[in-house]
Amino acid sequence: MARKPLVAGNWKMNLNHLEAIALVQKIAFALPEKYYAKVDVAVLPPFTDLRSVQTLVDGDKLSMSYGAQDVSPHDSGAYTGDVSGPMLAKLGCSFVTVGHSERRAIHGETDELVNKKVRAALKHGVTPILCVGEELEVREAGEHLAHTTAQLIEGLKGLKAEQVATVVIAYEPVWAIGTGKVATPADAEECCKALRAALAEKYGDEVAGTVRVLYGGSVKSGNVGELVAAENIDGALVGGASLDGDEFTKLCALA
Ligand code: PEP
Repeated sequence: MARKPLVAGNWKMNLNHLEAIALVQKIAFALPEKYYAKVDVAVLPPFTDLRSVQTLVDGDKLSMSYGAQDVSPHDSGAYTGDVSGPMLAKLGCSFVTVGHSERRAIHGETDELVNKKVRAALKHGVTPILCVGEELEVREAGEHLAHTTAQLIEGLKGLKAEQVATVVIAYEPVWAIGTGKVATPADAEECCKALRAALAEKYGDEVAGTVRVLYGGSVKSGNVGELVAAENIDGALVGGASLDGDEFTKLCALA
């Protein structure tokens, strides 16, 4: 089944709103509009940049999408510091990362909370990019497939098959994030294939064949080609390399 690749740049806690404008302009200038017929490109800036990015994307009718890096499980209320699904939807966000390993590790996010956030995003028409991935010890113990598929199933708990079909999954081995140690294409494909097989078992072949599964972890222009060439890898979630406009657009062009 043909799945359109997606390259999403996770800016993490980098770039203020002026720097965000400069980077989006650089990407827009470097990637011709016809490129978007083949590959979807999204940027995921910090919350404070979203309004600036929205203004630019809407004003110039850019084909690039944008989204956020987190969403509250609640719609509104006394949740100081949080940002809700309706707020992201109102700003035109297409995507939101949920369950990124940095949020699981630094903010103690559990699979249960991740599941609530996935539901909150879907409820408001924002596509969750559900991140799963194993720590180094888990891989060394040979438990990586069981670990990541369990995160996947828990993260999607309670969703209908047609909702699951719209979700994006990102396989991001924790040991590869921000370390410069990229998974080999064979290792990345093994896990992405196992994730798709788990989707097929629970939600059927059609859903599994529709869902985009990205790889993330030290993706750069020099390694993206061999990663996305794998049958079950439908693009990349890119951290560090998405902050450099030249590198990011080179990477997109090779995806
Ligand atoms: C990420 O933060 O999702 C990520 C993949 O980071 P990096 O590309 O820097 O490893």
